[in-house]
Amino acid sequence: MRKKIVAGNWKMNKTTDEAMALVSEVVDKVNAEVTGDVTVVLCPPAVYLATARQAIPSGGSIALGAQNCHEKASGAYTGEISAPMLQSIGVDYVILGHSERREYFGETNAQLAAKVNIALENGLTPIFCCGESRDLRENGDYIGFVKNQITESLFHLSAESFAKVVIAYEPIWAIGTGLTASAAQAQDMHFELRQHIASQYGDSIAQDISILYGGSANAQNAAELFAQTDVDGGLIGGASLKAPDFITVIKAAQ
Ligand code: PEP
Repeated sequence: MRKKIVAGNWKMNKTTDEAMALVSEVVDKVNAEVTGDVTVVLCPPAVYLATARQAIPSGGSIALGAQNCHEKASGAYTGEISAPMLQSIGVDYVILGHSERREYFGETNAQLAAKVNIALENGLTPIFCCGESRDLRENGDYIGFVKNQITESLFHLSAESFAKVVIAYEPIWAIGTGLTASAAQAQDMHFELRQHIASQYGDSIAQDISILYGGSANAQNAAELFAQTDVDGGLIGGASLKAPDFITVIKAAQ
């Protein structure tokens, strides 16, 4: 069964008091106002994950996600955080391959394949990000490029493992820019990606996997984006930093 998911990527924002205030406001509002079947994933900066875990009721519709993990389980990697560490504090999801990590930290498809493996081995659900640059969208085979990101980072997985992954299509030109992909552009790419997945794993897995849209999705445009057949929710940056906006986006996915 395809799951509706709305994940909030807070990136490098919020002090501890602000972060905890946002967690409790989202928890309260989700409990009071969200009745539909949608999984909400809060992805605060890593330094707040353990405290956030205490504030999020377990077993409910709100899950906790990290924004990254290292591809090794442990070792001399100063400043890094491993998948077993995240698992040990009760983290459920991990965003992998965000375009900011690919661009500023040089993450490659091969490295992301290793991160996906270690996340799955430690019971974390990867939210695997893919997406093309503006230049590629305007001048190149952008669909082939995004399919290749999925091929190189995910298609080594067994069907059973692949079925546990969540994909987030995030056109780079739409992230944090205020430029959103139109609902039709999002649907076209999500459809292509589902076909690509079907060619490797078959129809049933392709139909069941959740493919989220990310890129300036907000309280105004989420309903139209999420109404598309192959869009199963969103990975939300800026609009996840204010509880009322984020709740409106969550409701749009119900
Ligand atoms: C993101 O960071 O994943 C994102 C989609 O950001 P924004 O919603 O701000 O474009």
